[in-house]
Parts: sequence; C-alpha cells; structure tokens
Amino acid sequence: MSPTQSGGCLCGDIRFTATVNDDTMAGHCQCLDCQRSTGSARVTFCMLSDEQFSLDKGTLKTYTVTAKSGKKVTRGFCPNCGSPVASTGDGMPGMTLIKAGSFDDSSWVKPSMLFWQSTAPAWGELSDDLICMDTNP
Ligand SMILES: [Zn+2]
Ligand SMILES: [Zn+2]
Repeated sequence: MSPTQSGGCLCGDIRFTATVNDDTMAGHCQCLDCQRSTGSARVTFCMLSDEQFSLDKGTLKTYTVTAKSGKKVTRGFCPNCGSPVASTGDGMPGMTLIKAGSFDDSSWVKPSMLFWQSTAPAWGELSDDLICMDTNP
C-alpha cells in the first residue's frame, strides 16, 4: 500500500490527498443521518487527522446538523456533482472522516468497526439469495 492515496468526487472538481498507514482506522456507520445523506444503507469511512488530509482542488459545500449525540456534524460534498466526500464534527476535533469510496484506489481500506447497528436497514444486508452479476446486465 502506498502511504499517499488520492481521491475525489465523481466529477473531479474535488481532489484530495491522504497519508495513510496500516493503523488508519476505517468503519461503517448506519445512523439515519448517514443513510439520508448518502441514500444508502451505510457510510464507510476512513478517519484521518488534519495533518493526514489535504484538499488539493475545489471547495466542499457543507451542511451541518446536530447529531443524536447533541454534537454538530458537518458533511462536505461536491457543489457540482453532489458526491459526499468528507465529514467533520465537534465530537472529533482535528479529525476528518473521508468516504472510503472517494479514494481512487480503496483496496487498502479495512473497516474494523460498525456504528449504529441499531438503525441498520434490513434491505442493506447482502444476503446469499441475491442474484449476483459481475457488471450491469
Ligand atoms: Zn464533483
Ligand atoms: Zn452516521
């Protein structure tokens, strides 16, 4: 794994560089805010310190909510294509959560935790009954 990983949004207006290592924490969150902000069952993120993350191109548009914890969470997304990219929060000063799917190569990401299992949607499970196709039909 290269310690320097690049990434960005779908349209390319947002580009970033992250410095990662084997200890870079990654996890899933299934809180209702993450579901709503991504339209998906869960968010998979990597936690980086401010020193490990640099926004190289573009400016994220942000939206701040007060989470169930009472702490403010700010989600950053591309103002052009809407891709959710990064989150920060009062509860984790100096840290940025980067959406794992934003990386150009996310094969090194190893989620070790899952938050908000209590609100996991049943439809988010990857059951053995799914008809699996290698690409779009
Ligand atoms: Zn974009
Ligand atoms: Zn969440």
